[in-house]
Amino acid sequence: MAHALIALGGNVGDVRATFRKAIANICGMTQGALLARSSDYATPPWGDVEQAPFVNACMEIDTPLDPHALLFALQKIETKFGRDRQNERRWGPRTLDLDLIAYEDVSLERPELTLPHPRLFERAFVLVPLAEMSPDRVIGGRSIASALAELSTDGIERLPDAT
Ligand code: ADP
Ligand code: MG
Repeated sequence: MAHALIALGGNVGDVRATFRKAIANICGMTQGALLARSSDYATPPWGDVEQAPFVNACMEIDTPLDPHALLFALQKIETKFGRDRQNERRWGPRTLDLDLIAYEDVSLERPELTLPHPRLFERAFVLVPLAEMSPDRVIGGRSIASALAELSTDGIERLPDAT
């Protein structure tokens, strides 16, 4: 089994409900064991700011899949929950974005899969939920808490636990 960190995001539809279903699907499709899941956070849009706020969260799993098979499973789940990559703009509105943040200590630089995720250290909306789960975890030589300390967390709000 390998340890993987996955970031979830979305800003179209009932995103928190989508996350709940997507997490169950991720565990099922990756034969994964859910180790931890962060709270959900409301976050300002990033990249393309003329759109609705996002909801973001992170999760940790153990999975027997290799990194490419895991990414492929995540992309199938994005599609299942209504993501339409052909008709969306970069960093624009989407029902569900699933990013592979880290897979064990694997480093990979391919266009289809870069590990750790190439924009991790620019994105407070990923680092805040990661820090809630494991602030001391080191990814690419940096601890999550120290990477987060260099970013603004303005506008990022933890959402109350869903009942
Ligand atoms: P972003 O996640 O940066 O908002 P997209 O979800 O549109 O952007 O992803 C664009 C491409 O990034 C995908 O086609 C995917 O193959 C590639 N990619 C490279 N590395 C990763 C990774 N670690 N996790 C998810 N996608 C990745
Ligand atoms: Mg993505």
